This record gives sequence, structure tokens and C-alpha cells, in this order.
Amino acid sequence: MTEALYLKDSYRRECDATVVSVKNRKYVVLDQTIFYPKGGGQPWDTGKIMKGNKTYNVVYVGKFSGETSHEVDRAGLTEADNVHCVLDWERRYKLMRSHTAAHLFASLLCTGTGALVTGNQLEEDKVRFDFSLEKYDREILKKYIDKANELFTKDITVKWYELPKKEALRIPGIIKMAEALPPNLPNLRIVEIVGVDKQADGGTHVKNLREVGQIKLLKTENKGKHNRRVYLKLL
Ligand SMILES: [Zn+2]
Repeated sequence: MTEALYLKDSYRRECDATVVSVKNRKYVVLDQTIFYPKGGGQPWDTGKIMKGNKTYNVVYVGKFSGETSHEVDRAGLTEADNVHCVLDWERRYKLMRSHTAAHLFASLLCTGTGALVTGNQLEEDKVRFDFSLEKYDREILKKYIDKANELFTKDITVKWYELPKKEALRIPGIIKMAEALPPNLPNLRIVEIVGVDKQADGGTHVKNLREVGQIKLLKTENKGKHNRRVYLKLL
């Protein structure tokens, strides 16, 4: 199994690695990686893999039967190659900020209104939420966006760690989305916004709420009687 360095240190931008296998000349498995594979509502990382003076652009990263596969834009990498990986940090850092923003906003909205989050997808420049809420108006959204923005000016730590699954599942609200149901592992990874929210999550986050900046409402759509789709944007 590829060692997922981004789970421990989401700020790591470079690493050395060894090529474990290459499929169809462009799907590369490494012994360890800083590239986040698409999943859990967070898009994949991009960047490059370098071998000597040759550069291979990483255009897609996904998980297939437990292995993290890096799709590169040209052939040339082979098994046992020693390579150096570099993240497109600008993209990743935006996704980290958005991901933490999404957790905070969802937590405030769900706790405050009893809304259920039914879907969540990060994009490079916006965050999409689907939620169901019986009594809805734009003012409610505005209220929770303002609350979130206030918290983003505070020095609040975000941390991540593993807990035994049994213990984790006793924490109220630890799983907010049905599709985020954890894999069959003894431990769950928890992302905690200290004093505000704890959620089972495998994504990459910033270490302090201040790093998020501010968010704004981009647009809302109706998706059925009580279902809304909301787009938020980082400022
Ligand atoms: Zn998340």
C-alpha cells in the first residue's frame, strides 16, 4: 500500500519516492506519495514527478483497489525508478482552505438549523453543498456565512488524528454525510476544529481557521421542495 504522506502532513509539498508499478505506460503507483487521490468530496492533486532532468506532469490521481494511481502525461517511468514529487501547491492550498471552510460552515448550519447535508463537493474555486432544510430563506444562509466569517478571523486550531472506530462513533455528529461512511478500518481519522466541530474525514485541511480567509455566497439553487444547492467561494 502506498504510504499517504498527506494524511499526516498536509503542508508537505515535495517528497522522494520509488515507482512500484506502471500500467499502460502512464498510470504510476509509488511507495509513498504527497498527491491526494480524488475522494470524499475533495478533488485530486496535480503537480509533477521528476526523474533526473525529465518531468512527468501528474494530471489525475485516483484510488483503485486500494492503490493510489498517478496518471502522468507521457510514458517513460518504469518500475524501481527513483523519483521526486512536487505538488501544485497553489491548487492544493486552495482546496485545503475550502475543505476546512466547508466543515465549519456545515457544522454551524447543521447545529443551528438541524439541516442535513446530503452532498458536498469541493472545486478549485468554489464549494458546493446540498442540504435539506424545511424552513429556508437566504437570510438563514447569510447568518451562517457571517458566523463562519467571524470564526475565520479567530486563532482556532484545526487538528487531525486517529481514534478507535468504536470511540469515534460515540461522538455526536461525527459523520455528517451518508456517503462519508468510513471504510472498514479499526481506526477513524478525525478532523477537529477545536471547540467547534469534529468530523470523520480523510481530506487535507489548514492548521488554523485564520488561514481560510473569508467566504461568500456565490449562488443558490432549488433541488426539490426542501433541498437546496449552495455554492460558496473563498475570497
Ligand atoms: Zn471533509
